[in-house]
Amino acid sequence: ADKEEKVVDDDLTKEKLTEVTYNIVFVTSEASPYSKTGGLGDVCGSLPIALAARGHRVMVISPRYMHGGPSDEKFAGTTDLDCRTKVYCFGGAQDVDFFHEYREGVDWVFVDHPCYHRPGNPYGDMYGAFGDNQFRFTLLCHAACEAPLVLPLGGFTYGEKCLFLANDWPAGLVPVLLAAKYRPHGIYKDARSIAVIHNLSHQGVEPAATYGNLGLPSEFYGALEWVFPTWARTHALDTGQAVNILKGAIVTSDRILTVSQGYSWEITTPDGGYGMNELLTSRKSVLNGITNGIDVTEWDPSSDEHIASHYTVDDLSGKVGFIGRLDYQKGIDIILSATPALLQDDVQFVMLGSGEKQYEEWMRATEAAFSYKFRGWVGFNVPISHQITAGCDILLMPSRFEPCGLNQLYAMRYGTVPVVHGTGGLRDTVKTFNPYAKEGKGEGTGWAFSPLTRECTLNALRVAIRTYRDHKTTWEGLMRRGMERECSWDNAAVQYEQVFQWAFIDPPYAS
Ligand code: ADP
Repeated sequence: ADKEEKVVDDDLTKEKLTEVTYNIVFVTSEASPYSKTGGLGDVCGSLPIALAARGHRVMVISPRYMHGGPSDEKFAGTTDLDCRTKVYCFGGAQDVDFFHEYREGVDWVFVDHPCYHRPGNPYGDMYGAFGDNQFRFTLLCHAACEAPLVLPLGGFTYGEKCLFLANDWPAGLVPVLLAAKYRPHGIYKDARSIAVIHNLSHQGVEPAATYGNLGLPSEFYGALEWVFPTWARTHALDTGQAVNILKGAIVTSDRILTVSQGYSWEITTPDGGYGMNELLTSRKSVLNGITNGIDVTEWDPSSDEHIASHYTVDDLSGKVGFIGRLDYQKGIDIILSATPALLQDDVQFVMLGSGEKQYEEWMRATEAAFSYKFRGWVGFNVPISHQITAGCDILLMPSRFEPCGLNQLYAMRYGTVPVVHGTGGLRDTVKTFNPYAKEGKGEGTGWAFSPLTRECTLNALRVAIRTYRDHKTTWEGLMRRGMERECSWDNAAVQYEQVFQWAFIDPPYAS
């Protein structure tokens, strides 16, 4: 059985689990299709639907981004709930409004405030991250804590007995607010919170002086307190004092989840912990990992509207591709150094991505120099990502770290064989090809190489390319095993339910 399947106890069948239903509130800075810059948007767009289908009452609450462009139309189906609410932070009462759409069994709720109305993506624009993100997401968290109490969705509020899923640092104040603001006043006593870490490298760290803006009592300062190491301080009088919102979530939440089991272990080690490894180790008893599923309707090679011809596992017909953010995490520097040698082989290489300017320029320059073998598409384009996933034979993911990774899951579903750095969710999901296993029939769905160096990347790619070229039947076996792999959200939803059950067995962690 796959590693992730082992999390499900044998005696807890799906039927038994659905007897217990919860009021679940996802708090998130992105939810596809309304907003998406990466995997967080995918997860918060799909997992809520899978949980609602299993009988839970599910709300997703995120900002109503109005970028002033075509993407605003994604909110066209939402209606103003006319439920203006005051939230108290940043030195006063902030007026927020709520918009709502009931779709696929889920209450999609959008917090409306002028700070979400500006061009760019949810976190910034061409000049970088917005300077007031702490304000924007503090507002989201306060509004999200009020929503279950005040919004009469379908005639009834969600009420106090909720399970909050606080996704990444933008939602990190939710568990802190429950512990510091609500529970001491007898509200949300039966609620539980789970901090879900999709990427530990973003923590929401700001100067200590901003603590007073967050709407928290002074005695909770320690939960968010963060001290920079000496080398990271900027001048002699800098004491390194800061507040760290994700730390607050880790300290006060009832349970902690990451998006793969491998990553939940890696973040407890000095290399993967971003300064939080000791804290996370101290909370190991409530820390777990569940591998993301994928939207098997959007990503379906037999019906995908973005690709030229459809195929299934029973009809296979037939290059290297890369899709993702152009930054250090994704190992773009390794791609840069390996590409000239790779292009000596009999391959074509297509890349889709946006991010750091130097890498975007490198993609354009490499395409100009090797136009017959290299195509570099700079931008964020979902249809093209589907076409590359379907059209390539091999997908390269040399991520330095990867909490879960979705593109390798999409690739396997499309019969595209992943070659990945064996880290985090990539190591959990891509099983390296072993030709001798199963009495010579072979097993595995791709190649997970380590360590992450130019040489190892090239070696793994060359083995893959040779297998593709010289061993057709073997290659078809790799494709087939990838395509037949269980990857739907249903399986992950059952594992989430187990963590929910477990959270409700004990009293709230910070009461
Ligand atoms: P991360 O969240 O770290 O960016 P994931 O692999 O978890 O990485 O998720 C990335 C998601 O964003 C996938 O759905 C991927 O297809 C999509 N994506 C990333 N870059 C692009 C791009 N340039 N165009 C279209 N989709 C993209």
